[in-house]
Amino acid sequence: MNPSISENLTAIRARIRAACAAAGRAPDAARLLAVSKTFGADAVRAALDAGQAEFGESYVQEALPKIAALPRGRIVWHYIGPIQSNKTRDIAAHFDWVHGVDREKIARRLSEQRPEGTAPLQVCVQVNISGERSKSGVAPEEAPALCRAVAALPRLRLRGLMAIPAPAQPGEDARAPFRRLRELFESLRRDGLELDTLSAGMSDDFEAAIAEGSTLVRIGTAIFGQRHYEQ
Ligand SMILES: *Cc1c(COP(=O)(O)O)cnc(C)c1O
Repeated sequence: MNPSISENLTAIRARIRAACAAAGRAPDAARLLAVSKTFGADAVRAALDAGQAEFGESYVQEALPKIAALPRGRIVWHYIGPIQSNKTRDIAAHFDWVHGVDREKIARRLSEQRPEGTAPLQVCVQVNISGERSKSGVAPEEAPALCRAVAALPRLRLRGLMAIPAPAQPGEDARAPFRRLRELFESLRRDGLELDTLSAGMSDDFEAAIAEGSTLVRIGTAIFGQRHYEQ
């Protein structure tokens, strides 16, 4: 048992419930995805022992041995990193969810490569909500067409939208990008797409995201500590 991981989880869960309450939402309206990238299987196990069941990973190479080392049936694995074409087969075979789908070609590959006999891969379409040129994610105006394409693929199940807004600058409204994401989500639902997941908010901005309707916050640093990347 790693005391700091379980204490951090307890503290984050309390903050999530408080943010939901402050927004007039049910206390469990936003669920917690623990982002374990760069941390080992032992850290994931500590969080699992503390009652955390959903984990997010951003690097396929790093994730596969961790997934193999941990009890498969007790964990829901989310792939939240950028998706390269040559990694779709591993993602389709080893993950339950994928959050970064931003091209139809990638969606088609994931559907074709999702193994028979497994549940459909749960998909969030990533939206470039801050309009940064360098960032991945589909432009908001192109999201409806991509969502329809994903919804039509047999081995995928479209669940919602995901975004990583640029950090708010001093004086900026931290909620603004999350509000635009929610408005897009609601307009897609009005157009008949069955979406139930708004994947938004990280360690530094999850309360703003919850205030704007996030149903799933992706939190790494505040649970596991600072990440150290190997060179
Ligand atoms: C790393 C990562 C997170 C977690 O970020 P923290 O700031 O450590 O909470 C969330 N979402 C995505 C897509 C990430 O890559």
